[in-house]
Order: sequence, then C-alpha cells, then structure tokens
Amino acid sequence: MKVFIARNIPEKAIEQLKEKGLEVSINRSRKHLPQEQLIAQCQDSHFLILVGNAKLDSYFFEKCAHLKGIALTTVGFDHVDLAAATKAGIPVSNTAGSLRKTTADIAFLLMIAVSRKAFFYAKEVREKQKRSFDFMQDLGIELEKKTLGIYGLGDIGLELAKMAKAAYGMKIIYHNRTKNEEAEKLVDANYVSFDDLLAQSDVVSAHVNLSPETKYKFSKDAFKKMKNSAIFINTARGKIHQEEDLIVALQQGEIWGAGLDVTDPEPISPENPLLEMPTVCILPHIGSATVEARTKMAVMAANNIICAKTGLEMPQVINKEVYKK
Ligand code: NAP
Repeated sequence: MKVFIARNIPEKAIEQLKEKGLEVSINRSRKHLPQEQLIAQCQDSHFLILVGNAKLDSYFFEKCAHLKGIALTTVGFDHVDLAAATKAGIPVSNTAGSLRKTTADIAFLLMIAVSRKAFFYAKEVREKQKRSFDFMQDLGIELEKKTLGIYGLGDIGLELAKMAKAAYGMKIIYHNRTKNEEAEKLVDANYVSFDDLLAQSDVVSAHVNLSPETKYKFSKDAFKKMKNSAIFINTARGKIHQEEDLIVALQQGEIWGAGLDVTDPEPISPENPLLEMPTVCILPHIGSATVEARTKMAVMAANNIICAKTGLEMPQVINKEVYKK
C-alpha cells in the first residue's frame, strides 16, 4: 500500500512507514503543492500525510474519495472539511498533545517579550540606534501576580497556565464551552464568562480551535472590554482576531500590547503597522518549530497511517463518527 507525504518530514517517521511495508512517495519541496497536483499525487495512493495547512475541501474529497486515511501533522484542523471526509468514509487524524509544551513556550515567550518591549529594543540594537540607560523612557510592565485569562483552556492553554503560575504566581481565569475541572485543580483556575475574562485579565491568551464560533472573536467590541493595560496573545490561529480592529485598539490605547505567533494573512504584510509598534511582538507561526516537536508530530502522523493500514482505528482520529458508518 502506498502513502503520499505532501511535504518533507523527519526521516525517522519515513523509516517507520517503510518498516511496516508502506511504499512512500514524498514531495521534498518546502512548499504546499497546488490542490490539483495534490489530488493527482493522491490518485495512486491509499493514504495521505498532510504537512502544514493546505486546504482539504469538499472538492478534494470528491476527487480523492478512494483514500483510506489522512494523517495531519498539525493539531489544528480548520483547513479540513471534516463533514466531507466523513461522507467519503475517510478517517482523518491530527497530532493532539504532541506539541503542547512547545507551543505554550511561544505564548509564554510572547507574553514576556511584549511586557518588556523586547522585540522593539532588539530592533533598535540591530539598527544600531544609540540608546543608553534611560530612567523613564519606554518602560515595560511586570507580570508578577497579574491575572492571566485563557480563552480555550485545553492542552496548550494548560501548559501556559502552569508556566505563568510557576514563574510569576499569576492568577488564572479561563473561558471554554465546558468547564475543565482537571485543569482547574492543577492550576487553581477559575471559570468565568467571556466578558468577565476580557474585563478582569491583564493578559488574555487565545488557545481555542478556529471554528465559526471562534472566528473573529477578538474584534472591536472585545478589545473595548479589555483593560487599557492589557496584553493580547494569539498563538492559535490568525482569524481568531480581527487584525484591523487589533491595530485600531492598539493605536487608540484600548489595550496596551499584543503578541502574535499567528496573523491574518500569513505571512504578514511588511507594510502592516503592527510591525512598527513598540508593544507588539510578532513571530511567523513557529509554535511547534523545534526538532523535537516536529519529529514527534511526524512520528504520530506515521503511526496513525500504520494503524489505518493494519485495519485499526487511528488513535488520534478527529472525525470519530467515520468509524460508526
Ligand atoms: P485543545 O486541547 O483542543 O484545546 C482547545 C480548547 O479550546 C479547549 O479547551 C476547548 O474547550 C476550547 N474551545 C473550543 N471551542 C471553543 C469555543 N467555541 N468557545 C470557547 N472555548 C472553546 O487544543 P490545543 O492542543 O490546546 O490547541 C489549540 C489550538 O492551537 C489548535 O486548534 C491550533 O489551531 C493552535 N495551534 C497553534 C500552533 C502554532 O504553531 N502556533 C501549534 C499548535 C496548535 P471546550 O471544548 O470545552 O470549549
């Protein structure tokens, strides 16, 4: 049986697939294949490992209904039409849990970097501006004992909460659709409404999945409800916030700063005013970009394909209902 891997992945995962008798074909380039090429490559394959977030829409599933399993290397699955996958009888898996600490590190890094204007100072140093010690100019703010509001206290949000509590004794509040009682015990978190999260937090960090419900959740109204001294962090997906509204909120001082690992669109335009703001830190979607996490993600995806090949359920399947058909 044959698996097509849509972009290069660590050799360890490729070896595991081969050891289990799968014939492997790989797009070795660093770019997404255009959809028609992806569809063409899948025609003589039984399985697909999708690397990155190329769109798998209803058209893709119509053309590739013969696939017996698709393993995503990501946790997020907003780029996949799961209803169409299920209709075609194709199980789709993700890599839940494999990158929680790595991505939480980036949220933590952004939170500190914004609070101390670190990217702004680093840019000044790189641009060789002559700045010396100044007692009153461009000061940051401290995180000690402040309130961290987590929108989406799941795997990544919980890791961030643990770090924020251990490092700064931060008070944790959160908002999900359902209470996460296990996390509440671990980090002494309090469940609040979305509006209370906005009103009470010194730092708001978004960790929800992108869905019609969460899309543009942070827009004009939400930013107005936040403290003027608040920091907004987004390491989930760029479309969780309305970027134009974020720019205005920062320009008008409705919030103090922002740290983004994800933007809308990606890559961010070099003309985007966010890039010039001292209290804004932006990274190019590097939440899981470590050797360790990328290896874990690829191995987990390979394992899901190996299970599907052996007739077992994929352990990280996200459209579970496909197995009830
Ligand atoms: P997770 O464990 O599934 O956590 C997601 C949390 O969001 C859950 O607690 C869920 O709780 C909550 N949630 C979902 N829909 C919601 C809604 N409509 N309203 C309120 N809360 C909602 O996922 P994770 O592993 O932490 O990953 C979170 C997201 O991070 C992923 O979906 C992905 O987009 C993003 N991510 C980004 C990177 C990066 O490189 N920057 C890396 C990994 C992941 P309820 O179900 O109870 O609502």
